Amino acid sequence: MIRALTRCRQTFAAAALAAILGSLGGCAAVHQQLGMALLPVETEIELGQRLATEVVEQNRLLDDDEIQRYVAGLAAPLIEASQRDRTGIEYPVTVLDDARQVNAFALPGGPIFVYTGLLLLAENEAEVAGVLAHEIGHIVARHSANRLATQMGVSVLASIALGEQPGELAQLAANLVGGSTMAAFSREDEREADKYGVAYTVEAGYDPRGLATFFGKLMELEGDRQVTVFEGLMASHPATAERIQVLEKRIARVGDPGGRVEAERYQQMRSKLWRLSRASLQE
Ligand code: ZN
Repeated sequence: MIRALTRCRQTFAAAALAAILGSLGGCAAVHQQLGMALLPVETEIELGQRLATEVVEQNRLLDDDEIQRYVAGLAAPLIEASQRDRTGIEYPVTVLDDARQVNAFALPGGPIFVYTGLLLLAENEAEVAGVLAHEIGHIVARHSANRLATQMGVSVLASIALGEQPGELAQLAANLVGGSTMAAFSREDEREADKYGVAYTVEAGYDPRGLATFFGKLMELEGDRQVTVFEGLMASHPATAERIQVLEKRIARVGDPGGRVEAERYQQMRSKLWRLSRASLQE
């Protein structure tokens, strides 16, 4: 009786081992083919919230409620426009205080950050709206959630999202902010985010040419080693030129919607930001 039970257990153990080995092989295949869509939405949102807290700890927030509200206000109609493609996501927009960073980024699940350096380079609301709409596009298409799930695995991300790995969380936040190779989007991802960017700016009533004119400004910054630019665009100059061409074709297809540019209102905000930034640059 006892011997029979032992044999049964051995058989069970062998079967379990075979099943585990089999599923490991299966996992590897699934990981490669389907890894792009495996991160559950709740995990994506939790991860984004935790990363956002970490980003705020690692950076300095712009200490001006009026400008924070102004930038969030620019994003509001774009977020509204994005609802037809993806619902159930919140997009908190936060301005970080660093004039040398001409940059913006989106975290998985919604949080968007914009550096003062980007706001100082832009000349009107349409340009900032274009950048914000592009970032919303990355979230709508789940680009960073999918890329991280493929690179790091869903269980690691789930554990980071639960707060179980503070060291990994800090590292991941730093990578995403710093635009490390790990965090770099593919050319297809960028093109897709540009496509959403144009669609949402048009729908929100802004001139969609803002994103293209802003990219043009980034190209003019080439060679200036003092600044870090938007998603590392400057590092790939020919690709940026090509991207602007593709964008302009897309905008031409949309037609001339006669959207708002809002240069005057923008420059009033920017004058205030210059005053605040000069003080922080002199520190
Ligand atoms: Zn992008």
